[in-house]
Amino acid sequence: MSPTPEHLPSVIRHWIGGELVDAADSRTFDVADPISNTAYAQAARGSAADVDRAVTAARVASPEWAGLSNRARAGVLYRIADAVEARHDRLAAFESYDSGLPITQARGQARRAAENFRYFADVTVALGEEAFRQGDDQFSYVVRTPVGVAGLITPWNTPFMLESWKLAPALASGCTLVLKPAEWTPLSASLWPEIFEEAGVPAGVVNIVHGIGEEAGQALVDHPDVPLISFTGSTDTGRHIIRSSAEHLKTVSMELGGKSPVVVFADADVEAALDSVVFGVFSLNGERCTAGSRVLVERPLYEEFTRRLAERAANVRVGLPSDPATEVGALVHPEHYERVLNYVEIGRKEGRLVAGGSRPDHLADGNYLQPTVFADVERDARIFQEEIFGPVVAVAPFDDETEAVELANATQFGLAAYVWTSDLKRGHRIAHAVESGMVWINSHNVRDLRTPFGGVKASGVGREGGAHSIDFYTESKIVHVAL
Ligand code: NAD
Repeated sequence: MSPTPEHLPSVIRHWIGGELVDAADSRTFDVADPISNTAYAQAARGSAADVDRAVTAARVASPEWAGLSNRARAGVLYRIADAVEARHDRLAAFESYDSGLPITQARGQARRAAENFRYFADVTVALGEEAFRQGDDQFSYVVRTPVGVAGLITPWNTPFMLESWKLAPALASGCTLVLKPAEWTPLSASLWPEIFEEAGVPAGVVNIVHGIGEEAGQALVDHPDVPLISFTGSTDTGRHIIRSSAEHLKTVSMELGGKSPVVVFADADVEAALDSVVFGVFSLNGERCTAGSRVLVERPLYEEFTRRLAERAANVRVGLPSDPATEVGALVHPEHYERVLNYVEIGRKEGRLVAGGSRPDHLADGNYLQPTVFADVERDARIFQEEIFGPVVAVAPFDDETEAVELANATQFGLAAYVWTSDLKRGHRIAHAVESGMVWINSHNVRDLRTPFGGVKASGVGREGGAHSIDFYTESKIVHVAL
């Protein structure tokens, strides 16, 4: 159970044109683990020069990769999936060490990443083109072509899996690409080069430039030869990227922040709803975009639900990320930890603290926080309105369906929502009235890769998943022919 994984690199390089390279100006940045908050590696600090080199490599590789049949590309994607799964244990150890995720939760990530590659390989092979006939003398058909060099920018929560969520459809669609992983968690991305090499991905098809968002990420957004940006991250950064990419009228997909409501009616299966709330906001350390971080409970159940949620929260095991018994590990970075602690202080004034609120006694160092529950939180409270992105949940009562919907919709966000009730008609009514891209009724974050994924309002622009991803990474041209 050593917290330090085997084969930990001390240097993390860019991967450009099939070669591991240092930054053009040799600069690096510190990569730290969230237990000791000390640097264990140096990563190449990308600049506009590195991004330009990577984009050039991707452009050179583009005709060959785009020219392959869907079936041939799918074969490569299947081999990528196998290579990811073959690294299951190492990936989990890296991810847990670098991001602070509990090792048991990091273990699912390789399987999910591999599934993304297999799924999008299947989608492109199965996808037909549209065709239209007007009477007997006019026929029109769609030709789909890859957009070109895709710019992929990803966050630090479940980094490897989220990278795969963009890499797989981009590659399946025939794009070549430049990936800029999050600077707080570049470790697992250091596995991609050997994975792609083993799978036979031609040099230059995938390029990885590490670095700081405002430098390497911005250079990718600003690059004129990158017509498309797929971004997952915070709403503020998303806004900034949309503004910057307007200069070149880029196609963008924005998967942004959330403050998702869980609406629990008094007739709900309370045990199942409690399980779901605890899982939804405390698993992945609460660093989950779809976390159910606002729990709205119908008045007759409110006190009982709040008490039982507080008891559950108090029993969640906080500990070393590498310990298989751990349910909440260390938050990713001291800056983020301070931000979350600041919200806890704000919450003490805005709500009634019923669980957590401080560092666990047995963990003197590292970014640890006990799962924290605030009850009686008003709708204008900051802990009701703002994304905390940690193991902190706000609970509030409601009196009827109308108020439940009003409260659910009372934030700028609209990513996910969860409804718990035994009245299915009501469940559907709430699902339709809630402003969000995704709703789960009597269930939680089960994903189906065929379904659209994304948010409304400040939670995002566009949808990925299924054929939506392929639409995003390709241009459709319509050809009209007289018969
Ligand atoms: P962030 O916005 O700080 O950073 C995300 C990425 O953007 C990083 O790679 C960063 O380096 C880069 N970046 C920062 N500034 C940039 C700039 N000016 N130009 C280009 N790139 C830039 O987000 P984060 O803190 O890493 O991630 C947490 C956020 O991500 C949360 O808000 C969470 O809800 C959101 N998220 C959303 C989804 C979703 O699917 N909707 C999934 C996961 C995370």
